[in-house]
Amino acid sequence: MRSERVIDISALNKSFGDFQVLKTVDLEVDLGERIVICGPSGSGKSTLIRCVNGLEQYDSGTLIVDGINLADPGGVDRVRSEVGMVFQQFNLFPHLSVLDNLTLGPMKARGLSRADAEALAMEYLERVRIPEQAKKRPRELSGGQQQRVAIARSLCMKPKIMLFDEPTSALDPEMISEVLDVMVELAEEGMTMLVVTHEMGFARKVADRMVFMDAGEIVETGTPSVVFDAPKSARFRAFLDKIL
Ligand code: ADP
Ligand code: MG
Repeated sequence: MRSERVIDISALNKSFGDFQVLKTVDLEVDLGERIVICGPSGSGKSTLIRCVNGLEQYDSGTLIVDGINLADPGGVDRVRSEVGMVFQQFNLFPHLSVLDNLTLGPMKARGLSRADAEALAMEYLERVRIPEQAKKRPRELSGGQQQRVAIARSLCMKPKIMLFDEPTSALDPEMISEVLDVMVELAEEGMTMLVVTHEMGFARKVADRMVFMDAGEIVETGTPSVVFDAPKSARFRAFLDKIL
C-alpha cells in the first residue's frame, strides 16, 4: 500500500527577533504515523508543532498539511479543521461545563445541532472514561481528568492529525498514566500523532519514529529501539542520560 504524506515540512526557518528558534527543519509524516519529539527545553519543539496548525508563523520554508499549503490564502483555517491540538495546560474554557467545552466546536464550526453535538461529546467522554463528569466545570476535575476532557474535545472535531505538546508535564505523577493510556489507545486506532513528550516508556510503546531536537535543529531521528539503544549524536546521548 502506498503511504499518504500528511505533513511535509521543508527547510522551515523561524526567528523570534535575533533568536533563530527553527533552523532549516525538514520533517515528513505519513498518514497513521506516530512521531515522538523530544529535546531540551528551548530547543524549538513547541514552536515546530505550533507552526503545523498555524499557531505560530514561520519565516521561510514550506509547510504542507494534508495537501494544504499553510501559506496559501485560507490555508491556516483549512489546516486547523484537520488538526487537533492538546496543550500542557489543558486550555479548557473554565466557565463552561465539560459537556459545553466539547459541544462548542462541533456546533459552531461544523453546524451540528445541540442534540447531535451532545451525543458526539458523550461518545468521546466515554472513550476517555469520564462520562460521569459531563456536567461539572473543569476546575472540579483532577488534572488528569481535565487533560482527558481536552483530548475528547479535540477528537469531537474529527481531526485527521493530533498534536500533543507535553500533555502530561503539568500533571501529578499518579495521573500521567491515565492520560498516556488514552493516547496509546488513540495510536492503536491509527491516529496520526505528533507528540512532544519526555515520557520515554510511551515513546517506546507507540512511536514509529523519534525526533530529537536541539537548538532549533532536528539532530537525530529513528525508531525508538534504534535511537534509544544506539544514539548516534553526542547531544542525544547526553540528553537521554539526563532524562532516563
Ligand atoms: P521548547 O518547546 O523546545 O521548550 P520553544 O519552541 O517553546 O521550545 O521555544 C524555543 C525558544 O524560543 C525558547 O528559547 C523560547 O524562549 C523562545 N520563544 C518561544 N516563543 C517565543 C515568543 N513568542 N517570543 C520570543 N521568544 C520565544
Ligand atoms: Mg515546549
